[in-house]
Amino acid sequence: MREPMSSPSRTGWNFDNTYAGLPERLYVRQNAARHAAPSLVILNHALAQRLGLDADVLERGEAADVFSGNVMPAGAQPLAQAYAGHQFGFFNMLGDGRALLLGEQIAPDGARFDIQLKGSGVTPFSRRGDGKAALGPMLREYLVSEAMHALGIPTTRSLAVVKTGEPVYRDTALPGAVLTRVAASHLRVGTFEYAYGIGAPPVLKALADYAIRRHDAALADTQNPYLGLLHAVAERQARLVAQWMHAGFIHGVMNTDNMTISGETIDYGPCAFMDAYHPDTVFSSIDNRGRYAYGNQPAIAQWNLARFAEALLPLIADDQETAVQLAASAIQAFSGVYEQAWLEGMRRKLGLLDAQPDDKALADDLLAAMQNHGLDFTLTFRALTERQTVDYAAPDMQAWQTRWKMRRDGQPASREQALAAMRQANPAVIPRNYLVEAALDAAVNDGDMEPFKRLHAALARPFEATPENARYRAAPPPAQQAYRTYCGT
Ligand code: AMP
Ligand code: MG
Repeated sequence: MREPMSSPSRTGWNFDNTYAGLPERLYVRQNAARHAAPSLVILNHALAQRLGLDADVLERGEAADVFSGNVMPAGAQPLAQAYAGHQFGFFNMLGDGRALLLGEQIAPDGARFDIQLKGSGVTPFSRRGDGKAALGPMLREYLVSEAMHALGIPTTRSLAVVKTGEPVYRDTALPGAVLTRVAASHLRVGTFEYAYGIGAPPVLKALADYAIRRHDAALADTQNPYLGLLHAVAERQARLVAQWMHAGFIHGVMNTDNMTISGETIDYGPCAFMDAYHPDTVFSSIDNRGRYAYGNQPAIAQWNLARFAEALLPLIADDQETAVQLAASAIQAFSGVYEQAWLEGMRRKLGLLDAQPDDKALADDLLAAMQNHGLDFTLTFRALTERQTVDYAAPDMQAWQTRWKMRRDGQPASREQALAAMRQANPAVIPRNYLVEAALDAAVNDGDMEPFKRLHAALARPFEATPENARYRAAPPPAQQAYRTYCGT
């Protein structure tokens, strides 16, 4: 049975379906569940425009039907993607258990974006799950992914959230919802683990060629495109995780199925931004051993990269030993790219526009002092930006500030240039956990989207300190120490 299709209207849908042209082992064609009374909760007008969609036409017409999965946009060919993944270190066969790829929207400038519904019903990959999603977690992904985008961190984006009008059952009955996710692609490390794991070399090759066409087209004519792909992914992921570290972002569930080939952040489940700086910070209720703690993220990304490399081995060289050697050097290269990206970002956060040998020690020593005294990560860098001082009398903090000012004022760049760089590197507004929770509470329990929209507006301009966003820039309440995030999405 085919889903009803929206007419090729003024909405602007312009689908291509290249994923559906890949070998059939990589996906299952699947329709969305039907919902009796879907209603639009939020639509991202700026993103709609980027995609070539008319948000006003959508809002007046098909939005609730299309973004709930009841009606397929013209040209969509819904499918559930197959993938595997190492979850907390252990290999599992997974796949889209509650998501559907509708196809690729070609924007007016020719850019290609995956359009995915999340929470759209069961698929052959649902295992024991219900294929559904609750409103709170989908609004959470919308808010945090859009905040990450505004911070300049590569991420999937959120086009819409629709309430299905039906309950989903978790610990209690919750309002059901569907999120429309937009991504450079949904290719994951786990997609390659799957293609390797099924033992079908042509499928693996087709997938790798597809990834290269989509993300690294220039590699196609090189001597070893697959080794090139590994290096390119290593570089993107190293840069991405460095940006997470600069923002105090903790992904929370860096399983290999949640690591993209594009280098975008994906799957906002138990993620959170750190308040007080400590490398051991973990918020996720299911990460009781701290595998995905803040300070572990670079090492985990490299571990995940090794899983990607293993899947690519048969393509990298015919001779296994040669393939392993080449892959190992790519995995090692991750560390250098990460260290460099991290240090460059820390220099910007400290207003250092040239490079000096002691800069790493300067950055490390600030973090050590912040850790000693439990200082807030975001507020500390913002204080240095706005007041050029941290009001904290401890001798190590005072000594560090003297060092920093000498280094900063001794550089060729002017102090004004240094401060301008800092204002672009140190956000004033981040999606603090208590702010996110309050906005979601109002949206889910009171049906009041105003707090969500106000917070969203503040997060859209994270580097500005204005009277309007003052309440979002304040120190978090002390109760935040025990904050827990849940995968129960
Ligand atoms: P995640 O933790 O969101 O990255 O999901 C891990 C795996 O569990 C993926 O294969 C998901 O599709 C699947 N999954 C998560 N929630 C559900 C659900 N409610 N129903 C079916 N599958 C789910
Ligand atoms: Mg996932």
